Amino acid sequence: MQVKTLNAKQLSNFKALGQDYNVHFLENILEAAEINEPFFLLGKGTNVLLVTPQHDIIVSTKLLDKITFLGGTLVQTEAGVSLPELINQAKRKNLGGLEFTFPVPASVGGAIYQNFGAYAQEIGTYVKEVTTYSQITKEIVKHKINNQQDFFSYRDSYFKQNKLVILKALFSLTEMEPENIENKLSEVSSKRLALYPMSNTLGSIFKNGETYSTGKILDELGMKGFAYKHSQVCTNHANVIIATKQSRCLELLELITILKKTAKTKKNIELYEEIFIY
Ligand SMILES: Cc1cc2nc3c(=O)[nH]c(=O)nc-3n(C[C@H](O)[C@H](O)[C@H](O)COP(=O)(O)OP(=O)(O)OC[C@H]3O[C@@H](n4cnc5c(N)ncnc54)[C@H](O)[C@@H]3O)c2cc1C
Repeated sequence: MQVKTLNAKQLSNFKALGQDYNVHFLENILEAAEINEPFFLLGKGTNVLLVTPQHDIIVSTKLLDKITFLGGTLVQTEAGVSLPELINQAKRKNLGGLEFTFPVPASVGGAIYQNFGAYAQEIGTYVKEVTTYSQITKEIVKHKINNQQDFFSYRDSYFKQNKLVILKALFSLTEMEPENIENKLSEVSSKRLALYPMSNTLGSIFKNGETYSTGKILDELGMKGFAYKHSQVCTNHANVIIATKQSRCLELLELITILKKTAKTKKNIELYEEIFIY
């Protein structure tokens, strides 16, 4: 088993300096069965702020990178494949559907775990089968997804609820002309990039409420562009924080706390993180 030592900065899309701590990092998840203690699993780090080490080892899905087209609309994808890579390869086979995620560099496993959603669509809609590994029982299980609602809800999944490691998934995509896919990709990526950059952010920090958009609430509270130490709330989207090279993990956590306190004291709204603070 090959375990590397890395600074936490290298593992989160925030690229913020860790609290001067290193983590043990196992690149090959297939060696995880040899670990006899709980570990934290990392996809592409687009939704994780690493603040303090809670487990001794962080395990990556980065080597799970195979995509297999099975004919028709079916695609088998390993968990470490990035969504843009899957979208691009599927486009060459006239298969679309996942454009709403573009160009967020998340992994397939992380996206299924979180039930990635945007523009009134969710990734769970396209998932037909998921193969998981349990850290507790060390069993590998194939879950057939006949009824999507049994497995997915808003930013949540059966896999998240049961702390399962996603190893691979079977998608049923939609037959589409590459030109239509290309048009959708440009439309979605211009919308996103007009709001915030892909690097040094984690997307939305807080979940939306059932009846309100958290970005709108924070905007009404004047938080757009709010600067704190070396980090800042995005000037175009009050639910997004942008880190800089000088940002430290702890100050990002402090900024998140300030936003929560502001929403609670001024609007009596409790905000809940969508990101993982680890
Ligand atoms: C610029 C930007 C825009 C974004 N926009 C959106 C958006 O529109 N909608 C949205 O929903 N999210 C958005 N996000 C958030 C993020 O991309 C998603 O939550 C994504 O699903 C996380 O995938 P990841 O591979 O980066 O996971 P990570 O950040 O590495 O991990 C996130 C969580 O998933 C778990 N995990 C990762 N891989 C696996 C696996 N194989 N099996 C089990 N658990 C796993 C981790 O343990 C962790 O708890 C955005 C992020 C960024 C940076």
